[in-house]
Amino acid sequence: MSASADAASPVERDGVRPPLRYADVVVETPTGKHGDTFTYSVPDDMDLAPGHLVRVPFATRRLRGVVVGLRDTANVDYTKPIGSLVEDEPLLTPARIELARWVADYYMASPFDALAPMLPPGLRSRSRTYVQLKDAPEQQGEERLSRGARRLLMYLRAHPGPHQVSKLSGTLGTWTPNAVRALVEAGAVHETRRDHAPQRPAVRRVQALIAAQRLDALQAYVASHPRATRQGGLLNELARTPKGIGATDARKRYGPAAVAAVVAAGLASLEEVPPQSVHPPQSPLLPTDDQQRALGAIRESLDDAASAHRVWLLHGVTGSGKTEVYLQSIAHCLTQGRRAMVLVPELALTPQALERFDSRFPGRVCVLHSGLTPARQRDEWWRIFHGERDIVIGSRSAVFAPVENLGLIIVDEEHEWTYKQVDASPWYHARDVAERLASLVGAVVVLGSATPDVATSYRAERGEIGKIVLPNRVERSGAVGEMANVVIVDMRQELREGNRSIFSRLLTERLRETVAADRQAVLFLNRRGAASVVECRNCGLVMHCPRCSLPLTYHQRGNTGGELLCHHCGRHRGVPARCPRCKSDRIRYLGIGTQRVAEEVAAVVPDARVLRWDSDTTPTAGAHERLLEEFTSGGASVLIGTQMVAKGLDIPSVDLVGVVLADIGLHMPDFRAAERTFQLLTQVAGRAGRGDQPGHVVVQTYLPEHYAVQAAADQNYERFYAEEMEYRRAQSNPPLSKLARLLYRNSDPKAGAVEAARFAGVLRRVVSEWDMTDVDIIGPAPSYPHRVRNAWRWQIIVRAPEPRALLDKVDVPPAWHVDIDPVSMV
Ligand code: ADP
Ligand code: ZN
Ligand code: ZN
Repeated sequence: MSASADAASPVERDGVRPPLRYADVVVETPTGKHGDTFTYSVPDDMDLAPGHLVRVPFATRRLRGVVVGLRDTANVDYTKPIGSLVEDEPLLTPARIELARWVADYYMASPFDALAPMLPPGLRSRSRTYVQLKDAPEQQGEERLSRGARRLLMYLRAHPGPHQVSKLSGTLGTWTPNAVRALVEAGAVHETRRDHAPQRPAVRRVQALIAAQRLDALQAYVASHPRATRQGGLLNELARTPKGIGATDARKRYGPAAVAAVVAAGLASLEEVPPQSVHPPQSPLLPTDDQQRALGAIRESLDDAASAHRVWLLHGVTGSGKTEVYLQSIAHCLTQGRRAMVLVPELALTPQALERFDSRFPGRVCVLHSGLTPARQRDEWWRIFHGERDIVIGSRSAVFAPVENLGLIIVDEEHEWTYKQVDASPWYHARDVAERLASLVGAVVVLGSATPDVATSYRAERGEIGKIVLPNRVERSGAVGEMANVVIVDMRQELREGNRSIFSRLLTERLRETVAADRQAVLFLNRRGAASVVECRNCGLVMHCPRCSLPLTYHQRGNTGGELLCHHCGRHRGVPARCPRCKSDRIRYLGIGTQRVAEEVAAVVPDARVLRWDSDTTPTAGAHERLLEEFTSGGASVLIGTQMVAKGLDIPSVDLVGVVLADIGLHMPDFRAAERTFQLLTQVAGRAGRGDQPGHVVVQTYLPEHYAVQAAADQNYERFYAEEMEYRRAQSNPPLSKLARLLYRNSDPKAGAVEAARFAGVLRRVVSEWDMTDVDIIGPAPSYPHRVRNAWRWQIIVRAPEPRALLDKVDVPPAWHVDIDPVSMV
């Protein structure tokens, strides 16, 4: 039987096009890798559109799938019909489907993996059955129904709205499913299968209130119910607080059954309370001239879809008022009746940051991030989907939020590498996805940063995107408005002059002054890459790979000592006993913990109150907040922290920032090490002097002459950029080329090494067969760290003007993972 034969000639009758009978469905196949789009036929009574989430028969199972297209012919002889709709409305617009197609293609991800982040969170793969009274039930022969069915009918009349059948069974009894079946047959109720709970009014809201509706009835009820029971207790409290109590709170204290009973008795109601804006409304600030220029440029792009620049780099030093530019650009976008999206790095989603948006646009802002409970994430997603929120703020994955009629996307701190998803497919970069999305829907993009990604600056330099500069801090009354005074301390000199402490004499002195003046200090410690790099304390030399100009990292080899390894090309060598340059034997591994720094502070300033902020002492987001709160409120004079303290900390009473050792990040075996270090140091330096006192920054280093350290100390981005670009050019690294990183893991180190070498050989053969002179194959080399969760890891880097030219010519084995535009090389 050929299903496509009779559909081959769709006839237009009376100018009406017959409904398209076939659907292309991206199926969530368990093995899902490539080519998982399948054609199904559309049942006659199904009103199907692209973007619908459906269930389809697949082999012996029913799997989820997303309809990505409809057509009138099938390219296969036999098609199975689509099983059912999971949701009544399409969840994805054509633009989103197009975006998913781009993500799958560009990042070499499976089509379903690319679609999945755009679906509502919390969809279970197993659907649940809901029952609901019909609006106009065909009500005959009610007396012929079973006792159970009649009871259920009465219950549903008293409690309209969809009910999950399994929950009803829990409440009413195990006879419920039979009763549901009887009512469905009698035509009294609808039965629907859904993957998520339907939106129900007035339930589940955290802010829902139990209000005493009938105070007199309530009091009578209370009189007849002893206080000792939970219901009695609840009613008693309600009688005393007629304006109601929080439902969540009530359930916690009196139990969900008591709350339900009181509501069922008609003595209280669950009401949805509109979310109150917790922050006092704030009006726009009068823009400075620089801000005015920036706003002018962005507004022009918003007003004119044909404007020259649709993507803007907003390069503004810390405290230059970028956020105010975002806020007023958003305001303009909203007056056009369009919506806005703000992407921020995960760590920047602090209450202080959100407050500024919330108080400017009360009730219109919605926040999405991984810290929300699944229920909150689901709620927020549906609110956005239903257009109830105009501004969505969120981390990386918020770029996939269903914001329609999008006018503006802001990517704050666009240089942050947390915008790249690693370890889970699709390995996308949120900034690049945002730009793609914007171009599909005609939105404007603003990329903001104090230290733009070198690649972004390069695009601006070439005129591919527009550029706006905010060169100065906003002058504020009561604030100095100047950048902090930065001093670089040469730790080699300290050592030569007999100071063996981890603090230089200058930092020690400044710490004492700060504590004595009752002001605050932040000590910054870069933990990434610590301990693995070998450096000469006498001359600052770090052992490098002669071939790759990247630092070698130290690896323990049993008890026989260690060796140095290049994670880029795989070369290794023994650890030298003496420095090859100055012959000193003061060779040591870098790396200090916050504990060690805290001890040192206690030694030099015994009366300082010290807080440590790192992932060891503060494992949860809530703990971070409390710690920050404690420091902000003056609960400590010295805060010791790792990466987190560099971001967004805006405390006017911080006078001193000490960078304990600036070098550590410089020695990561990654060509972006200098850029990362520059960004971090610049941001750390930006933390000082935000109040009425000029700030002091002390940067300790064994490499005071390094351009990244110097440019950061001068807060001179242009100088850093110019020098960095020379290195990038010399080594043909991005942005002058593109990279793909091929990753492989194996629990057997020998077999892994063999496979890594084999595949690298395959790639090299293809390169030479096709004479691809502009493609470099680097590796295989062990990844860093080599062993993670009991598996050894290898990588091969493909560097080329377009690595896909090679990758499309080879069959990448399923065990290898492709990371396009990797943000980390190790
Ligand atoms: P950035 O985001 O560039 O670090 P912010 O937007 O946080 O800078 O601005 C730094 C400070 O300057 C904030 O406290 C902000 O309220 C203030 N500010 C920004 N723009 C103005 C303005 N036009 N007038 C007065 N104060 C401003
Ligand atoms: Zn040396
Ligand atoms: Zn090397």
